[in-house]
Amino acid sequence: MDSADVVIIGAGPAGAAAALNLAPMRHVVLVERRANGLQRTGEALPPVARRLFADMGLLAEFLAEGHLPCHGNRSVWGTDKPIETDFLRDLDGHGWHLDRTRFDDWLRRAAVKRGATPLMPARFDAIEREGARWRVRVVCDNGPAELSTPVVIDCGGRRAPAARRLGAQRQNAGERLVCAWALGTERSGNRGAGFTVVEAVEDGWWYTAPVPGRRRVLALFTDADLIGKRLAGDGAALVRCAMATCQIGPLMDDAAFRARQGGLTAAHHTFLDACSGPGWIAAGDASISFDPISSQGLLHALFSGLSAAEAAERYLTGAPDALDLYQRVIHGVKYVYASRVAAYYATETRWAAAPFWQRRRVQAELF
Ligand SMILES: Cc1cc2nc3c(=O)[nH]c(=O)nc-3n(C[C@H](O)[C@H](O)[C@H](O)COP(=O)(O)OP(=O)(O)OC[C@H]3O[C@@H](n4cnc5c(N)ncnc54)[C@H](O)[C@@H]3O)c2cc1C
Repeated sequence: MDSADVVIIGAGPAGAAAALNLAPMRHVVLVERRANGLQRTGEALPPVARRLFADMGLLAEFLAEGHLPCHGNRSVWGTDKPIETDFLRDLDGHGWHLDRTRFDDWLRRAAVKRGATPLMPARFDAIEREGARWRVRVVCDNGPAELSTPVVIDCGGRRAPAARRLGAQRQNAGERLVCAWALGTERSGNRGAGFTVVEAVEDGWWYTAPVPGRRRVLALFTDADLIGKRLAGDGAALVRCAMATCQIGPLMDDAAFRARQGGLTAAHHTFLDACSGPGWIAAGDASISFDPISSQGLLHALFSGLSAAEAAERYLTGAPDALDLYQRVIHGVKYVYASRVAAYYATETRWAAAPFWQRRRVQAELF
């Protein structure tokens, strides 16, 4: 059985951020079930992320990666008139339209460069207490292996594989938001360049944004029971449906958008009731998965990955309350998010009787 100071489950942005901040001081093993980054749709990163990259000593390297600048958001929400929110007066400058697969690979490499030991592909399978340490079982290509460690950080995404084994419960107020998406190419037009566009409709909301490499993502966020089977995973059908919208349809037309891939994915928010305990921490989506309307997921993954690394380091140097303090910070994030997302959904009143919007009002009362 191998021994490590910290075992991190999941090498997405949260796991990589935790690993790269701990690895210079500690022996860190980073367990990831996929050998290569998952193909993801493009995602937007807000300007304030610049500060986290600077804190982690990665800003110059990140800027050199050449992700597309994001200058703001156009939305048709609560009114038929498009409203533009730009980052011109933002002290942090512009945000970014990321190539997610390339972003994840880059962060993983940064963690390994700083000394983290990758165990990939290796799937976390089981965890049990052994005195003051954990015995963590993983399944690699050549069979099962065991790791002994005093601290486990669960960065395994919204399923929170380790934290849930340890008894933490997911809470989601009955949410069933899903995302039907199409990733494709754009051949012309600059109408949507540098901006994310959001448009509310009776059954949910549409989203489109450019992705590096003259690509574009188109997505419909709605509830699982409202999506209609024909849209699930069919990029071309999604594009046809988007043509009926007043902002996004003309933009797709102008960009000569062609869907190359399509999919359906869960997008509802979920929270763990406890995101730390003796010798364990959950970070990133494992701690809080955000409704993508908030554009907060990646920022939280980086922030909580860094905070989890700091908490683990303090815990290992003999501060028993470090993991508890971490949990209080994450609970604070959750309460601010919950009130803001509810308030934002409440500003759309044009389809007050439609199930999608009615459910958002009821959920707001549950928080
Ligand atoms: C449709 C959609 C659109 C979004 N758009 C945006 C956006 O525009 N901006 C934004 O900021 N956020 C967005 N998000 C949220 C963002 O994608 C997540 O918040 C982010 O990926 C969280 O990072 P993470 O590292 O916590 O988890 P993940 O990226 O999910 O990484 C978890 C890792 O753990 C690994 N893993 C899981 N289980 C195991 C196991 N048992 N053993 C080993 N490894 C395991 C996985 O393979 C994966 O690599 C969006 C989310 C969705 C669903």
